[in-house]
Amino acid sequence: MAEHNENLLDWLRNAHAMEQQAEQMLKAQASRIQHYPELKARIEAHIDETLQQQRIVEDCITRLGGKPSIAKDFAAKTMAFGQAVGGMANTDEIVKGAIAGYVFEHVEIATYTTLIAAAEAAGDVATQRACESILPQEQAMADWLLKHLPQVTTQFLARDATEGVVAKR
Ligand code: MG
Ligand code: FE
Repeated sequence: MAEHNENLLDWLRNAHAMEQQAEQMLKAQASRIQHYPELKARIEAHIDETLQQQRIVEDCITRLGGKPSIAKDFAAKTMAFGQAVGGMANTDEIVKGAIAGYVFEHVEIATYTTLIAAAEAAGDVATQRACESILPQEQAMADWLLKHLPQVTTQFLARDATEGVVAKR
């Protein structure tokens, strides 16, 4: 059980760092979007969820006697995502950003799926329930992005084909 808790705590710290990374990415995206109001609004709604998720994960870490990590570790691992979103010199940043967001949501889905199994194995019902409450929010965001990717793409292409109109954001 002690080892179960050690892994669980480690993975919770990772999840916390991941959510800090998510906050940075989503805020950077939302602040730049000008011509895609639906996508901007969905991202802003998910920022609220992300901040709430950070607090929920923090509570789990504290309950297990740990301290929430700083974002450094996970940030390094997810540089690729950060660059896809943060590399905003791209002329198609709105499309690349939506793709990167979709991928990131699946990292979160996998992370919480792992945490639910680990919490169950450790007999930590509170952490299991906490992660079960977060997982559907990540799935909903991933589903929304996938469903709206065609629309974002066609809007981008239409704007891109129009002289004097900004397409990329
Ligand atoms: Mg999240
Ligand atoms: Fe998310």
